[in-house]
Amino acid sequence: MTETEVLDLFRQSGALLDGHFRLSSGLHSDRYLQSALVLQHPDFAERLGRALAARTAHIQATAVLSPALGGIVIGQEVGRALHVRALFAERQDGVLTLRRGFTLSPSDRVLVVEDVVTTGGSTRETIAVAEAAGARVIGAASIIDRGSDPARLNVPLQALVRMEVPAYPPESCPLCANGIAVVKPGSRA
Ligand SMILES: [Zn+2]
Repeated sequence: MTETEVLDLFRQSGALLDGHFRLSSGLHSDRYLQSALVLQHPDFAERLGRALAARTAHIQATAVLSPALGGIVIGQEVGRALHVRALFAERQDGVLTLRRGFTLSPSDRVLVVEDVVTTGGSTRETIAVAEAAGARVIGAASIIDRGSDPARLNVPLQALVRMEVPAYPPESCPLCANGIAVVKPGSRA
């Protein structure tokens, strides 16, 4: 899939909006990105999963590991396309961990899969979970890379789209300065 095809699926499903938004962080942005809205369509999720699998098949992963909740749906689809297990890690007392009887072994070659990578913090945490379980992490993949620093990930990241989502404090927001009304994503104007 090309970047344009991926972004078309996001726009069709309202997962990517242009305007003037107040994000849950309180910051303002001219873009709103909510990948759950594209992944709610199983056909779209499957296509995105196949596209990420095509980019990562060469590293011959034996398992996909995703951080809950955002990574679960796309992780499942990448696992389906690669015909390998799709596991997820979830927080227990604030620490990302493998639960539910999920295991990895030293023979596992793990691909970490997420919907969106922003700073790479959750990617690094997920890598640490796999390594603590004795497995080797050989790569990472996400639908959207919002500007991660490759030097901080320690593994190659494959992304379908690289896209910045600018965020401004309200007092220095250029859209506010232009008098454009701000909306909270998800609310009906
Ligand atoms: Zn603003």
